[in-house]
Amino acid sequence: MTLLDGKSLSKKIRETIASDVVTLKSETGRVPGLAVLLVGNDPASHVYVNMKKKACEDAKIYSIVHEMPDDISQEAIIDTITMMNNNPNIDGILIQLPLPDHIDETLILEAVAPAKDVDGFHPFNVGRLTAGLDGYIPCTPLGVMEMLKEYEIDPVGMNAVVIGASNIVGKPMASLLLNAHATTTVCHIHTKDLKAYTLEADIICIGTGVINLLKEDMVKPGAIVIDIGINKNSEGKIVGDVDFKNVSPKTSFITPVPGGVGPMTIAMLLQNTLKSAQMRKDT
Ligand code: NAD
Repeated sequence: MTLLDGKSLSKKIRETIASDVVTLKSETGRVPGLAVLLVGNDPASHVYVNMKKKACEDAKIYSIVHEMPDDISQEAIIDTITMMNNNPNIDGILIQLPLPDHIDETLILEAVAPAKDVDGFHPFNVGRLTAGLDGYIPCTPLGVMEMLKEYEIDPVGMNAVVIGASNIVGKPMASLLLNAHATTTVCHIHTKDLKAYTLEADIICIGTGVINLLKEDMVKPGAIVIDIGINKNSEGKIVGDVDFKNVSPKTSFITPVPGGVGPMTIAMLLQNTLKSAQMRKDT
């Protein structure tokens, strides 16, 4: 069994990004810019936003966080997004989810200019991903594909099972695996016999938020297991969705939690922001 080490790979990628940022600046005088919109007081969202801000600083990417109160109006959020769409110093716009209940998430995500949609959540980029065209790909599944590439795992012809079907994780993960020519099945909360699918899988990508959902008897020997889940267990420890202790000995490759997919997500956010800056013609 080989551990897919997202921590060291993300470090390597972030170092490359930092040096590409220096090159971009020397060639164009421009520095990539990321705007983060944070609405409300969700403690986890604040932690994630601080991590993203710090990662930008390390990579010498300019970042600005727009903090807004819980009771802000939809119109005020859209006004801020429009301002960032028109701001030449901003290459990427990220809306930290979840948004408060009175806000229409779809409307907000659709307000972001597709060319600055570094999270890949705008329907324009979702459509391009589904069609196998270049665009912005959601950072978590993109990070998974980068890890597979690093470890020379080619999904072509593999039976891939994705567990979880959210717009952020499961669906784009499935699109990427399908685009990489895996025979791809998506399972979710209404799947009747999950084990029947996972036992056929050469590669399983799981992101459900359910601790220990994937157990030893659900995995065939030699399978590749990608654990996207980030959960806090009863002891306050960060764990994934896989019963790592019992599943890992059966696998050929597996991601640890923490230190697997998680660090890759932020690296991909920086990569998408740099890509946007490199693609923009205006200075
Ligand atoms: P979500 O709640 O939007 O979606 C969960 C999905 O899992 C749904 O499609 C649901 O049908 C499915 N599911 C739930 N229980 C199931 C069960 N018992 N059997 C089969 N399917 C089941 O969550 P999300 O935003 O997609 O996040 C999923 C997990 O991934 C969470 O643990 C989250 O913290 C983690 N996550 C990690 C990263 C990262 O950077 N590694 C990024 C985003 C989300």
